[in-house]
Amino acid sequence: MTQATRIDGKAFAARLRETVGEHALAFAQKTGRKPGLAVVLVGEDPASQVYVGSKHKACIAANMESFEHRLPADTSEADLLALVEQLNADPAVDGVLVQLPLPPQIDEQKVIATIDPDKDVDGFHVISAGRLSVGQEGFVPCTPLGCIMLLKDLHGDLSGMDAVVIGRSNIVGKPMAQLLVDANATVTIAHSRTKNLAEVVRRADIVVAAVGRAEMVRGDWIKPGASVIDVGINRLPPEPGKEKGRLVGDVAYDEAAAVAGAITPVPGGVGPMTIAVLLRNTLVAAHRNASLDPPEGL
Ligand code: NAD
Repeated sequence: MTQATRIDGKAFAARLRETVGEHALAFAQKTGRKPGLAVVLVGEDPASQVYVGSKHKACIAANMESFEHRLPADTSEADLLALVEQLNADPAVDGVLVQLPLPPQIDEQKVIATIDPDKDVDGFHVISAGRLSVGQEGFVPCTPLGCIMLLKDLHGDLSGMDAVVIGRSNIVGKPMAQLLVDANATVTIAHSRTKNLAEVVRRADIVVAAVGRAEMVRGDWIKPGASVIDVGINRLPPEPGKEKGRLVGDVAYDEAAAVAGAITPVPGGVGPMTIAVLLRNTLVAAHRNASLDPPEGL
């Protein structure tokens, strides 16, 4: 039985972080300041605390300034919006990221809409989505941008390939489909109401699974030789005697790896790309905010 190439997102992300770090140093030498990322966390959600901590460490390691704002869970919407506006106006801040989810008294859409689109390094603002849709310079959400980087690294040219994206969220599925179209793939977006999903997926040269259902995509859904990008992060129930369950993707890895040409593992595939691309977006924002051309090939 042949075995698919394991796409090493962890190694790719490490190389990207290093390159971004070198460019950040050059930026600081040119402008007298480091690229700056402001991350706002409201409340004490444990997963969010881990993400925010990782983003802080990654910024420092990439020669960037990290501005962390940790606010209590009962912060009012008005206070959060005021902080975002303050960060929008701060010339030391190139990127503004508000960690989601937010507590129920705060309207997430209002907060995202308040971020200056030129500092929207998460790419969640409607203006960022619009810019991506019409092909203008802007910011693309980090996870799908990371996925397209892995695919281009693997294939070079994606022209004419049949791609199926499973999931239509604003954060992953929709921007992913747009990026694949921009790369000249023929794209199908599948979702919870898609009929005969297995058959649809079986036509694909490229499968991107972004659903949030553990091991939903089976090996016999995969066209032999296809490239499989698994965005899902799902925790299985713990095995007896264990405290935590295993992390798995939306794809049944072992089955799919026996059929696919290449596949991302979970963990170690798409996950590490997200923070690396966030740093990349912050570096690009810093260049644009300083009226400099962003480094090429990033
Ligand atoms: P979401 O819940 O917003 O969207 C899920 C999508 O899956 C929906 O569009 C829905 O139509 C589709 N769907 C649901 N059930 C389906 C079914 N039975 N068949 C086909 N489609 C179905 O989720 P999201 O934010 O897009 O995230 C998806 C997954 O990716 C989650 O597991 C999330 O944890 C993970 N994720 C990972 C990263 C990363 O850094 N690796 C980043 C973002 C999200």
